[in-house]
Amino acid sequence: MCKIIDGKRHSAEIRDELRTFADSFEKKCGRRVGLAVILIGDDPASQVYVRNKEKACEEVGIKSFMYTLGKEVSQEDAEELVRTVCEDDAIDGVIVQLPLPGHLDRKKICSLIPVEKDVDGFSAENMGLLALNDGGAVSACTPLGIMKLLEREGIDVSGKNAVVVGRSAIVGRPMSLLLLNADATVTVCHSKTKDLEKVCAGADILVAAVGRPKFITAAMVKEGAVVIDVGMDRDENGKLCGDVDFESVKGKCSYITPVPGGVGPMTVTMLMYNTCRSAARRNDVRL
Ligand code: NAP
Repeated sequence: MCKIIDGKRHSAEIRDELRTFADSFEKKCGRRVGLAVILIGDDPASQVYVRNKEKACEEVGIKSFMYTLGKEVSQEDAEELVRTVCEDDAIDGVIVQLPLPGHLDRKKICSLIPVEKDVDGFSAENMGLLALNDGGAVSACTPLGIMKLLEREGIDVSGKNAVVVGRSAIVGRPMSLLLLNADATVTVCHSKTKDLEKVCAGADILVAAVGRPKFITAAMVKEGAVVIDVGMDRDENGKLCGDVDFESVKGKCSYITPVPGGVGPMTVTMLMYNTCRSAARRNDVRL
């Protein structure tokens, strides 16, 4: 019998725990935990993501500081804002919503965020710490959310064969490092991988972060595997679906995350978690 992992429920429970932390942080430190979100340009998807982050902040009791710049802003002005925001002591985490307008140097702008306020975990330093299995690393939110789901479902990763399909800097790569750090034997697949079906079929834990609708079929899944679907794709009718062919795969695996309602809700919750963790570390209090 396959268990469908309820990401919404886990996410709501974690937000409750973070709310308790945020309230006690205010009592101890005399201010709310603070998250700054910098939005540059008018990308409609980014506007939706930013609104969701603001809503999550409200729910958890984190004070959100919103900064918006027009799409014509110069590199210098964008850098100036990021520097100023990062210096603000009332702000524990800073994120620059991506993508940025094409004329801006994303790497340069993001590199201005100091490692201790990089709550997206995208910086070279945090990725390096993760690669070194340093407990101080801030992990990217989506893979961190997946690790929390596995942990909360009581799924032991140690010694398991984990296959991650996708090697992007925000999902596949940090996912593979987190699984390796948790003692899994990890294989990372990508568009040049040979015999993908066979590699996937050897996985005890299969993470799909490909960006192709229903790409992972039942033939690619081992009987009893744990299947984690990161994809947020559209099927032929324009309906939201994942990278996994849910209907055929669910009959074969032991656990599966649905789309929507699986990995997705955890991502913003992990941004709240990373922000609370940053506040705790900066003020020497326990999370
Ligand atoms: P991405 O940057 O486009 O990376 C896709 C990865 O899949 C690449 O490494 C690519 O290989 C690999 N790939 C593409 N076609 C393949 C094939 N035929 N066989 C094997 N590997 C293949 O995408 P992403 O940002 O990681 O996102 C992946 C999916 O997760 C998307 O659907 C995205 O919307 C979703 N997502 C969801 C959340 C969430 O919160 N739920 C967060 C982030 C992303 P190469 O490296 O060789 O090109």
